[in-house]
Amino acid sequence: MRDTKSILLAGGAGYIGSHICVELLNRDNKYKVIVVDNFSNSNPKVLDRIKDITGKDVKFYEIDTRSNELEKVFKENKIDAVIDLAAYKAVGDSVKNPLKYYNNNLISQMNMLLLMKKYSVNNFVFSSSATVYGEVKADELPINENHPTSTTNPYGSTKLMGEQILQDCSISDPDFNCIVLRYFNPIGAHESGKIGEEAIGIPANVMPYITKVAIGELPYLNIFGNDYDTIDGTGVRDYIHVVDLAKGHVKALERLLNNRIGIEYFNLGAGKGFSVLELIHAFSRAYGKQIEYKIVDRRPGDAAIIYADPSKAKDILNWQVEYSLDDMCRDSWNWQSKNPNGYNI
Ligand code: UDP
Repeated sequence: MRDTKSILLAGGAGYIGSHICVELLNRDNKYKVIVVDNFSNSNPKVLDRIKDITGKDVKFYEIDTRSNELEKVFKENKIDAVIDLAAYKAVGDSVKNPLKYYNNNLISQMNMLLLMKKYSVNNFVFSSSATVYGEVKADELPINENHPTSTTNPYGSTKLMGEQILQDCSISDPDFNCIVLRYFNPIGAHESGKIGEEAIGIPANVMPYITKVAIGELPYLNIFGNDYDTIDGTGVRDYIHVVDLAKGHVKALERLLNNRIGIEYFNLGAGKGFSVLELIHAFSRAYGKQIEYKIVDRRPGDAAIIYADPSKAKDILNWQVEYSLDDMCRDSWNWQSKNPNGYNI
């Protein structure tokens, strides 16, 4: 048996993918990483940064995972497992452009699964989202993996449909081995400050917005509502350090490579919620100055509180978060201050 496993990381140049790449390469020589990315929401320079951090090269293919060219990757490499993060992820954009999301997210997943079948690659880690839990009531918290699924936007529908496709594959094929990871709210960056989230234009998510306020690119954060039934009226979310999230993928991979499990679902979250105001205060501590904000109307579709029950991942994957909210803010600020223009410094 070969000792080093070859992992195809689709979307590996992106925010989460680049951190997974580093974690895989840091596991001695356990994993060889093959990144496929079309840079639709990422930058080629990330590959140099990954090399800076790890001292190792990844094999890279600039390919849209929907295209026929993807087969080349399977022909040229003996792949042991696929981690698939190649997808669009902006909720608001998906409402405006649903076909863009169904086309990209579902066709790329189908293409990948068909090639995996053709080349007898059975291990698959799927990047899903807590958005598949749809509307959550306060008395249903924390959310565990058995919570009913539903969606409120096309992005969420692509994730839920993606999960359904995988469940059907697992029913039809006893060799198919799959873990679905439902992410909560990833923020933070690698502690080196060399890789992180590069938000282009006006960020839709709260942390990249805050960091753009910190570098003076935006004047203040708009807080979407302060009249929710929460600790201080602002929305509460389960923020997770992106390095913890990346380590969760490595644990999932280990489980797939060592066991025949069919399909399993795991929440990746910290299991604790923080409000937008708590996040701003924590960030302001790391930044050394107060982040300015204004209270504006609620954002349509936002829930008041969502946080995970991550105990299944702890029990079965032996995974739990190590970083605190202060660590996440420190690392987000470290990344943004060292790279005010993202990878185009
Ligand atoms: N939020 C905010 N201002 C922003 C962006 C987000 O107040 O510019 C709030 C949002 O209402 C929610 C939390 O921050 O309570 C996290 O939002 P984000 O878009 O980052 O993630 P979501 O949980 O919606 O996927």
